[in-house]
This record gives sequence, structure tokens and C-alpha cells, in this order.
Amino acid sequence: MMNQQTIFIVEDEAAIREVVRKYLELDGFRVLEAETGTQALETLREQNVDLILLDIMLPGLDGFTITRSIRNGYNYLASSSGTPIIMLTSRSTEADRLMGFELGVDDYVVKPFSPRELVARVKAVLRRGTGDGQGESEKALVFDNLRIDPRERSVTLNDSLIALTAKEFDLLWFFARHPKQVFTREQLLNQVWGYEFYGDESTVTVHMRRLREKIEPDPAVPSYIHTVWGVGYKFEA
Ligand code: CA
Repeated sequence: MMNQQTIFIVEDEAAIREVVRKYLELDGFRVLEAETGTQALETLREQNVDLILLDIMLPGLDGFTITRSIRNGYNYLASSSGTPIIMLTSRSTEADRLMGFELGVDDYVVKPFSPRELVARVKAVLRRGTGDGQGESEKALVFDNLRIDPRERSVTLNDSLIALTAKEFDLLWFFARHPKQVFTREQLLNQVWGYEFYGDESTVTVHMRRLREKIEPDPAVPSYIHTVWGVGYKFEA
């Protein structure tokens, strides 16, 4: 099989790992497993994976702590810092979701979930992450010192690479393709998150804040993504 993608399941319940593995393998994915947070970080030190399915409640390090370690790109995890993460949780409180998104999680699945739906989410997140989607064959866009390359899905500011999550990249790329246009949070949810997402508008706010912290030379006085008070946001270099 060409270009087989690797999905990494971090989950302490063997029954869940087993069913998820089965469905992913049926779809042609290679699957790695870990039972604890410590094991997960050890595996990520040695292997490259394409997507992580991460349980929140784990013995030892929990899912939030693991996400933080990955996104912070500690040296030994540097190659994983942008790897898409889907959190598996039995808790569906808004506080948990926001905490996850704040840390850079790409999507959420609440237990009990349908394995088919999970596989669909995995594919949706990977599509965004690998540039197989429509219109992704476009050229890099440059705005002042900010360069956004949709094929590499890379962003550089003053020639240094900025580590964005898949969703932060999608958001920035959406804005960059529609300069000077004002979008409400609801429009951004529909355009960037799409139908498969069950979130609310605060999700957008959280992602915007993270994106600004990464790409804006001074997040308090944005040079690229501007707030239009009472309406939403627009991108203008
Ligand atoms: Ca668990």
C-alpha cells in the first residue's frame, strides 16, 4: 500500500484500542498503540505518526499534559509538534473542550463514539493536514513578512518557521485567501470547521488568540488579523 498513514492511539482501555484499531486497519491505516502517557511520549520520541487519537483520562500523565508537551515541541518531540490530535473524552463539558483547543487539539470525539464516525473524523483532519483538499494546489501567499505555503502547509514570519496546528493553519489560510473581507465567528466556524464540528463560537475566539500569539509581532496591536468590533475579524496586512 502506498503512502500508508500512521495513526497513534493513546488510550488505557484495551477494548477501545482494539475496536478503533480494527476500523482504522480496515481503512488501510497503520496503527500504533500506547496505554499510558509516558509510553505515548516514548513512542513519539522514536516514531513519526500522522495523527494522534488521545484519551484525556489516562493513568499518569493525562491527555492535556501530553498535548502540552507535544505542542510545546520539547526537543525530543520537535518533529511531532504540529501533528494533528483528536481527543477522545468521556467528558464533554465546554471547559474541557476549550482547554483542549487552547492547547492545540484539532478535534474532539466524545465517548461512547461510533468507530465509523471516528474514522471519518480522522480522515477529515488528515485531509486538512496533508493538502489533499480542494484548492490546495495554490501558490504560496506573501503578506509583508508573512509567507503562507499551502502545499507545505508551512508559515514563515521573517523567514522563521512558525509551528501551527492543522486548524490554526486552516484558519490563517482561509483569511489569507479572503483579504480585507470581514467574517463573523459563525461564518468562520462554518467555513473552517465545517459540518463535522459540534462547537460554539468561543472555539473561534480561542483559535484566533493562539494564531495571533504565533503570527503577530505584537498580538496586542495585530498587523495581520484585525478585530472588527461587534462583527468579527478580517485579514489585512
Ligand atoms: Ca481513559
